[in-house]
Amino acid sequence: MPCVDAPADPRTSWALPAPGELPGTADLEPLVSRVLAPNPSGMTLDGTNTYVVGQPGSGQAVLVDPGPDVAAHLAAVESVLAARDARCVAVLVTHHHGDHAEAALPWGGHFDAPVAAASGTVAGPRGRVLEHGERLDLAGTTIGVVATPGHTADHLAFRLESGAVLVGDHVLGRGTSVVTHPEGDVVAYLESLRRVHDLGPSALYCGHGPELTEDPGAVLEYYLAHRAFREHQLLAALAAGPATVDELVATVYVEVPRALWPAATQSTRATLAKLRTEGRVEQGPGDSVRPA
Ligand SMILES: [Zn+2]
Repeated sequence: MPCVDAPADPRTSWALPAPGELPGTADLEPLVSRVLAPNPSGMTLDGTNTYVVGQPGSGQAVLVDPGPDVAAHLAAVESVLAARDARCVAVLVTHHHGDHAEAALPWGGHFDAPVAAASGTVAGPRGRVLEHGERLDLAGTTIGVVATPGHTADHLAFRLESGAVLVGDHVLGRGTSVVTHPEGDVVAYLESLRRVHDLGPSALYCGHGPELTEDPGAVLEYYLAHRAFREHQLLAALAAGPATVDELVATVYVEVPRALWPAATQSTRATLAKLRTEGRVEQGPGDSVRPA
């Protein structure tokens, strides 16, 4: 098997805020402000980004990914709404994970605003289930609904009139995202990366970490190359003989902090599921896998 180098992350040369130094609130463009939730961790980076979107002067705004249901975070969002002289008219959610969706129904009730998401469970009984291609006329602007399954089955991105795309956990401001297992799907994830790339986004506003404005297309190309590299690494490791998933993670993710190995295990299982479907790996002795 030929040796393949790890793809280079284009963001390493960008002037992005260091981990932990993302401003708590920021006005990103006239349509969008960002509010950082106080839930930092290895998986959520600086914390969850909640976006406040609306045409200035409309008196209205939409919240995208309210995040954790924490009083301090709600207070921060309400002060941004006040600064924008806007009331919340809808709550949009990229996917069902609690660090994005937990506050959706309680805050929807608090603001008397409907919740909209791809999952009926997230949207709730008074909410709205969104589908790919819908255009939402809200808060004096139009928001496009873009299906981006892969990280989870219900994942959506939202495209703004400015050309910026709110990408949730599809793309992160730092590092790479996780294809969860068994819910996630690597083939769908790769298609969703190409779908957002084809939109030619002017910026990617991520669920975690800094906004990506310098060359969003290059980041999406890096994400595609990174997934291909991980797949290559798995096949290279299996060429040495059957291995369990834990052994593969220890080999392929040797340079990644161990705290992230549970997430790496999910992405590895998801990639093995793809390779199994393609007939390139099969069950080996015990709980190992081997090349087919
Ligand atoms: Zn997530």
